[in-house]
Amino acid sequence: MNAPLIKRPFDVDAVRADFAILSREVHGRPLVYLDNAASAQKPEAVIAAMANAMRGSYANVHRGLHALANETTDAFEAARATVARFINAATSDSIVFTKGGTQAINIVAAGLDVKPGDEIVLSVMEHHSNIVPWHMLRERKGAVLKWLDIDDDGSIDLDALDALIGPRTKLAALTHMSNVLGARTPAAEIVRIAHAKGVPVLLDGCQAAVHGRVDVAALDVDFYAFTGHKLYGPTGIGALYGKRGLLAAMPPFEGGGEMIDIVERERVTYNEPPHRFEAGTPPILEAIGLKAALDWYEAQDRAAIEAHEAALRDRAMAALRELNWVKLYGQAPDKGAIVAFSVEGAHPHDVAQILDRQGVAVRAGHHCAQPLMQRLGVSATARASFACYNRLDEVDVFIEALYKARKLLS
Ligand SMILES: *Cc1c(COP(=O)(O)O)cnc(C)c1O
Repeated sequence: MNAPLIKRPFDVDAVRADFAILSREVHGRPLVYLDNAASAQKPEAVIAAMANAMRGSYANVHRGLHALANETTDAFEAARATVARFINAATSDSIVFTKGGTQAINIVAAGLDVKPGDEIVLSVMEHHSNIVPWHMLRERKGAVLKWLDIDDDGSIDLDALDALIGPRTKLAALTHMSNVLGARTPAAEIVRIAHAKGVPVLLDGCQAAVHGRVDVAALDVDFYAFTGHKLYGPTGIGALYGKRGLLAAMPPFEGGGEMIDIVERERVTYNEPPHRFEAGTPPILEAIGLKAALDWYEAQDRAAIEAHEAALRDRAMAALRELNWVKLYGQAPDKGAIVAFSVEGAHPHDVAQILDRQGVAVRAGHHCAQPLMQRLGVSATARASFACYNRLDEVDVFIEALYKARKLLS
């Protein structure tokens, strides 16, 4: 029997102690890392899990008849079970390991049976990962993209969504949280509206899975994509959740070892999901690292982390609203701790560079969301994005650094 999971009471300094990198300096200043929506830092538990696997028990998975192969297969499949539990998927075999969020969405795009004129519904605030695969279906198979508009804060109009979904709609592919505006989408309502018309839903959870609890069973969502490296795990690993029947109906994505059943000269048959979609040697060490990341995260008080991130967001938003030379993009009160902004008269890249000289890492650019930039009428923004290990006083350092940027750039 498992011991009851004892949650660590939330203490930001104790959390930071798990991340050696957070105590380094850049340009002679203490690092203030606010680029978490692009990639998060990794706790020692992840580094140790991957290093220990390489030192102590490593081989290729699934095809071995020796101890190390069996141990590694067990570790790899335990990671799959951990991912399933993390998003409350009923069974592990509904979890496909991918190389990231992008590949998870591409697997679905490649597997959909699309005829010319079939429609994909998506919003204008999607990440390119949830746009370009559908554009490729447009180019290759004649799919039609139906764009759902947003309001300035990133909320979507459910009646407009309902109106966009028609008899030719193959899939609604929508973000669960914008990586620019931080806006959360009403996933349960989206699924209800789409299902009422018999249309499956894919949610891009690359941000939402970091900043809140995901329950694919309660949402009744058909596909859910997320990525490891934004969830305190390693790069090179992500996951696609799919309902069993839908995954079983999809053709493979890539061909190679492990994804087959029988290979003959004139014939090939394919393995069952999830292995059908995992051609070749999978990201074994990365899966072990992802498991360590999810175990580490689940051992924290997640509710307290959500409250802490909300406090970071509120402190940053309140301070920025005071500055009449700062423009904010996305001000939904319940948004994730992702703050997109620009400084009047200054290019976001210049702002980011001056912040960097002061130790503050933010991102500037289109954030892989060019249709959203067009919707907002800008070519780029700066973005500060927070993680559970950011301290409230780091918000103050960021704001001070921004004053300096303003002074130097205007
Ligand atoms: C980062 C991100 C992706 C892409 O994930 P990768 O792991 O980089 O492939 C997709 N969607 C959103 C919303 C993201 O933030």
